[in-house]
Amino acid sequence: MIKKRIAILGSTGSIGTQTLAVVREHAALFEIEVLTAGSNAELLIAQAKEFSPKAVVITDERKYELVKASLKSLEIAVYGGQEALSEVVQREHVDVVLTALVGFVGLKPTMSAIKAGKDVALANKETLVVAGELIMDLAKKHDVKILPVDSEHSAIFQCLVGESNNPIEKIYLTASGGPFRGKDIAYLSTITKKEALKHPNWIMGQKITIDSASLMNKGLEVIEAKWLFNLQVEQIDVVVHPQSIVHSLVQFEDGSLKAQMGLPDMKLPIQYALSYPERLPSNFERFDFLQYPNLSFERPDMDTFANLALAFASIKKGGNMPCILNAANEVAVAAFLNDQIGFVEMSVVIGETLEKIPFIDSPTLDDYLAIDEAGRVCAKELVTKKKKIYQIEK
Ligand code: NAD
Ligand code: MG
Repeated sequence: MIKKRIAILGSTGSIGTQTLAVVREHAALFEIEVLTAGSNAELLIAQAKEFSPKAVVITDERKYELVKASLKSLEIAVYGGQEALSEVVQREHVDVVLTALVGFVGLKPTMSAIKAGKDVALANKETLVVAGELIMDLAKKHDVKILPVDSEHSAIFQCLVGESNNPIEKIYLTASGGPFRGKDIAYLSTITKKEALKHPNWIMGQKITIDSASLMNKGLEVIEAKWLFNLQVEQIDVVVHPQSIVHSLVQFEDGSLKAQMGLPDMKLPIQYALSYPERLPSNFERFDFLQYPNLSFERPDMDTFANLALAFASIKKGGNMPCILNAANEVAVAAFLNDQIGFVEMSVVIGETLEKIPFIDSPTLDDYLAIDEAGRVCAKELVTKKKKIYQIEK
């Protein structure tokens, strides 16, 4: 494998730090060109000292002077602010951009990377949820690869190797079901932030952990899969699989099913996205069948976990709906983490926002930027109203 030079957007987060762990293990094959962080200056500085990138970005401008001063004896260009993300991804010596930012903020730098001809290892699923068609068209136009990092999508991607002429009949996205699997609405309306932040199988950033508990994560992944693999929504099924060993499945036209399996460890899909089409050796823990005599599968409860139903409805209608869904969800999750609304009210805020913002069939990039903003304003107003009710009830 030829050495790859990597830009990591969001290097201080869960995916970012695990990507650096993979790079550390394969130092002869990967080199870090760019690291970026939102506001965790201390960790960004430590990472820059260890991996000697050519450039770093701290988007929180209040931390810029600290980062600059701490790295001044090294030959590292230091930038501050959100716009710098779209600049650094274009650097000449970047081969692949791994997007590990959370949320809509990933959209512009991802587009900028694609336009500069860089392959994208995509963890930031929100970008495809918001503007999947636009991103996939752009990637085709600039002949760049979009390599999935999300474990389910990596599983499907791995199952499709060698199958390029064979149409997909259907895919099954597996879901752990999260910490509240089997619970009813009455139970969900009592749960606390602390309970929701405890995922049974994965340790992840806060936003995706809440999304996993509410099944919105699976909804976002349905939309992500539609665009990545060019599917109709009807070809995508979600199946709850609490052990998180089968990472997803593809069904072909002859009825054959292929699955990708293994213990849950994000380093594997991260490494595969970076080494594709090759596989690299790893010391990740191996699966032992005897430890798992029962792998089980069940239907998701979309009545209780309304977010999954809302996501399916949004992508079925298409247009700007997934963008509104995403904006409202980002606001709702932040409000839940801020103790402003309860767990079940997140779905109420998202559902009402989807009803309030006018439908657009074929949005442009400018439309998406405006819709995201409008969605946020609307959802925040709803949060303020709900917050009153929530606090009276408390
Ligand atoms: P995280 O919260 O742990 O890390 C986010 C990173 O982005 C941090 O480096 C943070 O500094 C940076 N960041 C946050 N807000 C920013 C902003 N406004 N501008 C610039 N940088 C910002 O998140 P994570 O769990 O690593 O998730 C990252 C992405 O990967 C998400 O889209 C998530 O859905 C996806 N993903 C994560 C996992 C996982 O196991 N963590 C699995 C699959 C997919
Ligand atoms: Mg996933």
